[in-house]
Amino acid sequence: METLLLWLFYISTFYAFIPGLITRIFGFRVFRRGSSENEFALTFDDGPDPQYTPQLLDLLKKYDAKATFFVVGSHAEQNPELVKRMYDEGHLIGIHNYVHKSNWLMRPATVTKQIMKTDKIIHSITGERSGYYRPPWGIVNLFDLKKKRRRRFKIVLWSAMFGDWRENVGADRLTERILSKLQPGEVMLLHDCGTTAGANPNAPQQMLIALERVLKEAEQRGLKSIRIDDMVKAKENAPERKVPRFKLVVVKLWLLWEAIFHKMFRLKTVNPSDPLLHYRVRKYSGKSIEMEDKTLLQKGDQVVELHLDNEKMFQMGIRSRSSVHLAIQMIRSMEKEFPRLAQLLAQDSAAMDAKALYGVSMVNRGPEQFGFQIVDLKDGLFSTSSRLYLKFLLSVIHPSGQSRLKEHAQRLVPKMLLMPIGEFMERYAESGSHRRHQEPNRRGTEPAEGTEHHERNLGTAQGLEGSTSAI
Ligand SMILES: [Zn+2]
Repeated sequence: METLLLWLFYISTFYAFIPGLITRIFGFRVFRRGSSENEFALTFDDGPDPQYTPQLLDLLKKYDAKATFFVVGSHAEQNPELVKRMYDEGHLIGIHNYVHKSNWLMRPATVTKQIMKTDKIIHSITGERSGYYRPPWGIVNLFDLKKKRRRRFKIVLWSAMFGDWRENVGADRLTERILSKLQPGEVMLLHDCGTTAGANPNAPQQMLIALERVLKEAEQRGLKSIRIDDMVKAKENAPERKVPRFKLVVVKLWLLWEAIFHKMFRLKTVNPSDPLLHYRVRKYSGKSIEMEDKTLLQKGDQVVELHLDNEKMFQMGIRSRSSVHLAIQMIRSMEKEFPRLAQLLAQDSAAMDAKALYGVSMVNRGPEQFGFQIVDLKDGLFSTSSRLYLKFLLSVIHPSGQSRLKEHAQRLVPKMLLMPIGEFMERYAESGSHRRHQEPNRRGTEPAEGTEHHERNLGTAQGLEGSTSAI
């Protein structure tokens, strides 16, 4: 599962990761940590849950602790009495989307709808509107950072999380983890519902046991849990720590680069009603390479570059039970998608002169059955930078499980998938009358003798700049 997540993180850089990273590293435009003397903030996501939320509320009452509940709208709708109880007992209620779905999977307008719908539900129960929003999995995308929405909702992430959504972490280890973060200013993320994707249904049971111990300890140390709005106020009143200018510049450049990238990247979508595969025609700029049909792909040749749809990949990723299951899904989808692509390419005048089809993939087993040749990206800028990037990701996303993930990282080496376009058409074009079949011997494809052309390595794959989202 981690491999999968890592891989998904990798390919979805541009839509979700970069802004997420910005917010995580710089704490930019979101609230994730307070600065108070004796207070920390307990926050609970994914509820309300009819079984565990009442127990949690009892516990908080017992220790006179105030918390913030980021409720899932549909759960709130089903358990209005619990939302009312949260409100009546002095807790803050925030929004965690209407259904527990990542903002990666939704268009900006849909995210807005999810937030507004949940806001309405909360308002109908408590008579008060919520001003606080926490995106599922803390995944913020660029659109969440838009000024208009930010003015209305404060995005709240967290400074400490503990893996409490897993039952097998157990109350003891969980207690230890939480105690190690028990200090003023921390925003702690916990879950009072275990029915969302990736969680264990009975995990909150362990959380409740651990929490009671932590609350006891906090009481002894004179620490108190407060609501996020109070924590925000406390921080605003505290002497301001300035954001270093260079950080702001980095963030601005990042955002600008992303905007430019999207404009430049005008991709065509194979099936707009259910996007899975995008492509663009471009000039190949890597080293010469002999393809399986013995033709030579050279610098300057037209190629069709394939890109997977990040949202779709993420969807498949969270729906599949294992990486094998994911692979099967991918294969099925590609079987459907390739004939469509072939049809499109046959009609696309821009693709007329394309010599090959290529993409970059982290999944190196499987593509052969579709007729792809797998080529190493040896020591190129792209492969070096992607390895560095992976390392970086490991340290940012998974500060805990680093060693375990390291093994996976070694298998996650990006490779190039390549297929002569004639081969592709032969395999996937439905009518046999395609023009490519009429001209199987295309010009200038004889490999030169005794040159480096026979190398199957791409050297610096300049042709792949920025395409971390390619296949
Ligand atoms: Zn959640």
